[in-house]
Amino acid sequence: MTRLIFLGPPGAGKGTQAKVLADSHHIPHISTGDILRAAVSEQTALGIKAKGYMDRGELVPDQLVIDLIRERLGQPDAKPGWILDGYPRTVVQADSLDGLLTELNQSCDRVVNFDVPDEALVERMFSRGRKDDHEDVIRRRLEVYREQTVPLIDYYQTREKLTSIDGNQSMEDVATYLSQVI
Ligand code: AMP
Repeated sequence: MTRLIFLGPPGAGKGTQAKVLADSHHIPHISTGDILRAAVSEQTALGIKAKGYMDRGELVPDQLVIDLIRERLGQPDAKPGWILDGYPRTVVQADSLDGLLTELNQSCDRVVNFDVPDEALVERMFSRGRKDDHEDVIRRRLEVYREQTVPLIDYYQTREKLTSIDGNQSMEDVATYLSQVI
């Protein structure tokens, strides 16, 4: 059973690592950002609600992602394990996830916190060229991360779930270290 939460600023490389690890463990990689982007491009009700927030680099309202994760973790393929990438991002989401996992009779094994200095993040986000990767939006996403998501480091530290990883190394080195700590 592998149940992991990947925490870290935008551009920290957590998505790339989550994909590789989820594939090798045959469990789903659940990225709320990917799910929301798909909803936006398919113009679903969720996508229409989320788009404006995403374009501005703001978080979408908690209830939207809370409902989305409840639905996703309830699917059969998520029974044996999962990697959550980009969720939770606020204390409200983390509390809600706690309750949901209790209901599902599951628990998260580890929260992996990807540590990367700001300069490296901005550079990485520019180089991947996503729609929400314009400079002002990048800066706003970093601010939002600091204001709303950084408190989760303490949150999971207190619960003795947190492992921090130096994300400012090559992809291979991060992957090697990750496989040792989980
Ligand atoms: P990401 O690909 O994880 O960087 O997410 C892209 C965008 O989707 C974010 O900037 C938010 O607008 C939105 N988003 C993704 N995950 C969440 C979340 N857990 N809570 C609120 N908004 C989210």
